[in-house]
Amino acid sequence: MTTPPIELKPSSHPLSDAERDAILASPGFGRHFTDHMVVIKWTEGRGWHDAELVPYAPLSIDPANMTLHYAQEIFEGLKAYRHPDGSVALFRPEANARRFQASARRLAMPELPVDLFVAACDAIVRQDEAWVPAHGGEESLYLRPFMIASEVGLGVRPANEYLFLVIASPAGAYFPGGVKPVSIWLSEDRVRAVPGGMGDAKTGGNYAASLLAQAEAAAKGCDQVAYLDAVEHTWVEELGGMNLYFVYEDRIVTPTLTGSLLAGITRDSLLKLAGDLGYTSEEGRVSIDQWQADSESGALKEVFACGTAAVITPVGTVKSARGEWQQSGGEPGEVTLKLRKALLDIQTGKTADAHGWTHPVA
Ligand SMILES: *Cc1c(COP(=O)(O)O)cnc(C)c1O
Repeated sequence: MTTPPIELKPSSHPLSDAERDAILASPGFGRHFTDHMVVIKWTEGRGWHDAELVPYAPLSIDPANMTLHYAQEIFEGLKAYRHPDGSVALFRPEANARRFQASARRLAMPELPVDLFVAACDAIVRQDEAWVPAHGGEESLYLRPFMIASEVGLGVRPANEYLFLVIASPAGAYFPGGVKPVSIWLSEDRVRAVPGGMGDAKTGGNYAASLLAQAEAAAKGCDQVAYLDAVEHTWVEELGGMNLYFVYEDRIVTPTLTGSLLAGITRDSLLKLAGDLGYTSEEGRVSIDQWQADSESGALKEVFACGTAAVITPVGTVKSARGEWQQSGGEPGEVTLKLRKALLDIQTGKTADAHGWTHPVA
């Protein structure tokens, strides 16, 4: 497969410096988008073609577009950070590219070559570099690569035309007032994904499946839902959009990738980073009974969630139909905060990157 070059067709009317600075002063998350987007087409028989960087603009969608009816859609999320020397780097974009290929396979979509995925991310960051916050903190430019079917028709089958896009949105610090633990609703009835389903693909459908449980959790005063496995309703899997870690003294444990949970890149980075800080890391099974019992006995010191958006979020309160308990006294744990700082220091270029994870955007 040949990789087409990305043709640059930049906007003739980007936002003024003053307008952009006003947004960057308080960007929030996913509310504002930069001046450009990358669009690449795929057609059966032709492969990837017409790779372009163009002004950010609405798409024109036929009402019978196949994505609107059968949800062939996958996405990624990754961040560009401003380093202290003013340069900009992405965090592990090749890992996102490979996961995007795995998601594509699961949804019977074409695989985008890794180098084209990374080139598309580089192109938008380079063009919209002024949108990468430079406050010296956790702020970033969040990239959202995604792919949709672009064929028109109501027949049920894999489409034979697709669009790949990358859009970019400045993101503020997730915890502007300091790291704050989240409360978790442990769902024993609703499930996110099933064995053989698409829980290990990053697709909008999994998020659609999680929204009702999320709304129920909110009604119970919780921030997030933790899902159990769909067969035994026993084994802790993950949150709707973040993986989980359990901290036992100097050992951190995350649920094994069984096929129904997503292989987070933050999760994987922490498995590797733990050793640098003198902790051991492992994948294993944690049951809901064990979570509760070990919390109550004090053996389980801390629990945290992790993902690109929030990096690491401590878990404070846990609620379920069987009761409620406080994790680490409802305070952010020491190991949680140490890991969070170590990972962010690599991402933001404040420490040397011994793992080769940062990808400079020249
Ligand atoms: C994206 C995502 C994560 C976190 O993955 P990262 O690569 O760490 O951002 C975890 N769970 C689900 C369901 C996700 O969609």
